[in-house]
Amino acid sequence: MNVAIDGPAGAGKSTVARKVAEQLGYVYIDTGAMYRAVTLAANRAGITSDDTEALSALVADLHIRLMPGEQGQTVLLNGEDVTEGIRTRAVTLQVSQIASHEPVRIRLVELQRELAASKGIVMDGRDIGSHVLPDAELKVFLTASVGIRALRRFKELKDDSITLEQLEQEIAERDASDEKRSISPLIRAQDAIVVDSSELTIDQVVALIVDLSRT
Ligand code: C5P
Repeated sequence: MNVAIDGPAGAGKSTVARKVAEQLGYVYIDTGAMYRAVTLAANRAGITSDDTEALSALVADLHIRLMPGEQGQTVLLNGEDVTEGIRTRAVTLQVSQIASHEPVRIRLVELQRELAASKGIVMDGRDIGSHVLPDAELKVFLTASVGIRALRRFKELKDDSITLEQLEQEIAERDASDEKRSISPLIRAQDAIVVDSSELTIDQVVALIVDLSRT
C-alpha cells in the first residue's frame, strides 16, 4: 500500500512520515525537499521567483534524487548533496512562491509518481492525497494549531535572530500561499483522516498512523 501524509508547515509531517516508513518497512519520500531543491537551484542560477519561463527551463534539466540517509533522506541536486543547503531560511521564505509555478509542479509531480510506482511508500507534502496519489490506500491530513507549530520550529531552529512571533507569521504566510495557489493547493483530500497533533507526541502520532495502516 501507499501512505499519503499532507498538512501545513511544521505539523511534524517529515518526522512522522519517516518513522511510519521505518516501522512499516516502506520507503519515505519527502516532496517538500524536492520543491526546496528547485528553489535552491533557482537561487543559484539567479532566477527570480516570478520568472515562469526560466523556472520551466530549469526544471526540465534538473536531476533530483532522494536517497535514504541517517536523518531521513539525503537530497542530491545534479549529484551534489544539498540535504542541509535546502533547509536555510532563505530557501524556506521563497519555496512557496517557486512551488506555485505550473511547470515546476508538473515536473515534480511526474517524478513523485515515478518514485511511487512501486508500492510501499510513505510520501509527505501538501497535495499528495488530493493530486499526486489520489489512489493511496491511506491518506492522513496532519495538522496542529499555528501557535504550536511555530513553537516546535522555534525550539528546533535555535536561531537568536528570529522571534517566535516572526516565525508564527512566516508559517501562517506560507500556509496561506500554499492554500491559495491555483494549481494543486494545500488541501485535505475528501477521504483523508484528520490527525491533530497539537496535544500528541511524535510517537503517539506515529503509532496512530501505523494502526490506521493495519485496519
Ligand atoms: O514540507 P516543507 O515545509 O519542506 O515544504 C516546503 C514547501 O514546498 C511548502 O511550503 C510548499 O510551498 C511546497 N510544497 C508543495 N507541495 C508539496 C510539498 C511541498 O507545494 N507536495
